[in-house]
Amino acid sequence: MTPRILFIEDEPAIREMVELALTRAGYEVTTAHDARGARSRLSERFPDLILLDWMLPDSSGLDLARQLRRDTQTRSIPIIMLTARDAESDMVLGLESGADDYMTKPFSPRELVARIKALLRRSNPRRADEIFEHHGLRLDTASQRLTANGHEIRLGPTEYRLIRFFMTHPERVYSRAQLLDHVWGRTAYVEERTVDVHIRRLRKALEPTGHAAFIETVRGSGYRFHPHP
Ligand code: CA
Repeated sequence: MTPRILFIEDEPAIREMVELALTRAGYEVTTAHDARGARSRLSERFPDLILLDWMLPDSSGLDLARQLRRDTQTRSIPIIMLTARDAESDMVLGLESGADDYMTKPFSPRELVARIKALLRRSNPRRADEIFEHHGLRLDTASQRLTANGHEIRLGPTEYRLIRFFMTHPERVYSRAQLLDHVWGRTAYVEERTVDVHIRRLRKALEPTGHAAFIETVRGSGYRFHPHP
């Protein structure tokens, strides 16, 4: 499977150069030019590795790295920080924020590719925890497959993101506004009742195997994923 890399960088020239080098090296690359865009990409799909620029227009790369480390869903994604700073104290700060490696600009694309390869090799065993299972409902986030009692369930992209969010955050009640934030991302403008529409579609897909009941409506509050036999 082609490793996916998320590259967060606001300078278009560097973004293009690195994107080209990584694509040529056989990686699938998605880009974002600020922290907001990065969060929206992350809500669509998890990458295998994140390349993160230190200075972003809306946030510092350090803050974003810390946030990624705090979230259980993104905690294990390896991060390489890119920066023009090269003082030793900055490097230490970068690594302490949760980055796994560090490169200073200007860098050679060849060296970057070599570092990515090495880091992916080191962190590969951590991908083993990407399977979530609750009473016959099984989600494999690496292949983005959901199965119920062994049968594959086909979902639209929003329903997939919803069930992934629920299965990785079971037993907690989320309001429609919270679901919009987590599943659609803060950048999307969507009405709260849109959530209900997608919940209905998701329940319909889970109905034949009896798993629809796992998604509970909590009156006056929102929804909860409550897996039970
Ligand atoms: Ca920058």
